[in-house]
Amino acid sequence: MHFTEKSRKTIDACRFCWMCRHICPIGNATGMERNTARARALGLSMVARGVEEIGASIANVYECALCGACTKECLTAWDPILFTTEAKLEAAMAGEMPEYIVSMIENIERTGNAYGKTELCTRLSESIASLPTDAETVLFLGKNAMYRTCRQACAAIELLKKAGVSFTVLTDEPSSGWDLFFLAGGAEETRQTMKACAASLNSFKTVVAYDPNDARMFRRQFKEWGIGLNAEVKTFTEFTAELIASGKLTPKKSASVFTFQDPASLARDLEETVPAREILNACGTTLEMLMNGRDTNLAGNLLMAEYMPEAMTKVAVRRWEEAQRIGASILVTANPDDYAALETVKPEGCRLISIEEAVLECL
Ligand code: SF4
Ligand code: SF4
Repeated sequence: MHFTEKSRKTIDACRFCWMCRHICPIGNATGMERNTARARALGLSMVARGVEEIGASIANVYECALCGACTKECLTAWDPILFTTEAKLEAAMAGEMPEYIVSMIENIERTGNAYGKTELCTRLSESIASLPTDAETVLFLGKNAMYRTCRQACAAIELLKKAGVSFTVLTDEPSSGWDLFFLAGGAEETRQTMKACAASLNSFKTVVAYDPNDARMFRRQFKEWGIGLNAEVKTFTEFTAELIASGKLTPKKSASVFTFQDPASLARDLEETVPAREILNACGTTLEMLMNGRDTNLAGNLLMAEYMPEAMTKVAVRRWEEAQRIGASILVTANPDDYAALETVKPEGCRLISIEEAVLECL
């Protein structure tokens, strides 16, 4: 068993406060005890002690979205995400990954993305082709935006063009490693993917990461694993807020009232909550959900939607209910995961837009 000492301690450190039961967006959506960090730790403690094989717990391990809500609340101050990602690596090494995960990894090997897509939408292809190939700044769209939320990827490109930014998008954009990290933890394949990504980005001065999951990889995992990335990494929201502050984008303040859906990886992993609100307050006013900022609730996860679509639909429905509870009229997202999930269950009379679309509407 390959759990680190820190992970073993995390598994055994529970003080039974049950905060992770109250806070987990998956557990709250499914109503199942097994979806809490505590229940997962109990199962894995049997594996760590050699009483059970990893195969007995692995399906449950893949029911965690790595959203970090339990990490933030856990009384032990340990990080349940640590043993979750280590359990995935253990399963990969033991050949005990669920078939649906193996098939997504095979898609990555075959097509470069977990969805097995081989072509971008026409509009995005044309949009990328219209950009210069040599620039100091690269907009890193990420696989989810490229293959799942094409319209938002196009809007992000349009926004930077309107700001007069000299930038490019790589036609053969590599993976940041996020998808493999989510599916197989810290496997050697994940590391090699990250290294290849760093090599293709190191000629740029600035990388603007559209997807907060990619930004999280660049800023945290690359550093933790000693993979050098020379370029300065900015999140898309951070970069856009700077364009507004410097006068390169001048949205007109409208009467619109926006409610921001903080992406979990942006708000918790990168501790970034202010720029999105600066952007939206330049375009209108903001109205906050109860669970906002670092307390945000996950609304979606595109990788998990591939193998547990019903549970992920329930997660998105719950988030809409939370938005409706405070009378939100326009919900604004800043990542493909949340946008794609919320769009599929959008209640009548509510509006969903991405943050780049919000700015474009006010220019
Ligand atoms: S990381 Fe998120 S999804 Fe996973 S157990 Fe914790 S709260 Fe639940
Ligand atoms: S939040 Fe932490 S200490 Fe509390 S029950 Fe969950 S794992 Fe145990």
